[in-house]
Amino acid sequence: MRTGKIIDIDCKCGFLLFRYFKAGKGRLIKVLISRLTDDKVGLSGAETHSRPQCPNCGKDIGIIMMIHGEPALKLNQGSIKTVRI
Ligand SMILES: [Zn+2]
Repeated sequence: MRTGKIIDIDCKCGFLLFRYFKAGKGRLIKVLISRLTDDKVGLSGAETHSRPQCPNCGKDIGIIMMIHGEPALKLNQGSIKTVRI
């Protein structure tokens, strides 16, 4: 079994943005869209280089980029609560 766990990613305003299966330890920098669950932001189908916002407070939560051919969200560390495992 792979190590890792489902973590909640919250905006600084307290709104739950999505959940993510994080493998390994360390700071969460970017998330693969295909591995999100409970996507409250509507990230699946977002265009590359678009900047999704928190539906609650309107802050930019990051930028969509392609990583190894897969869409991913690079998190804006200033907008989300720090996540530790
Ligand atoms: Zn927010």
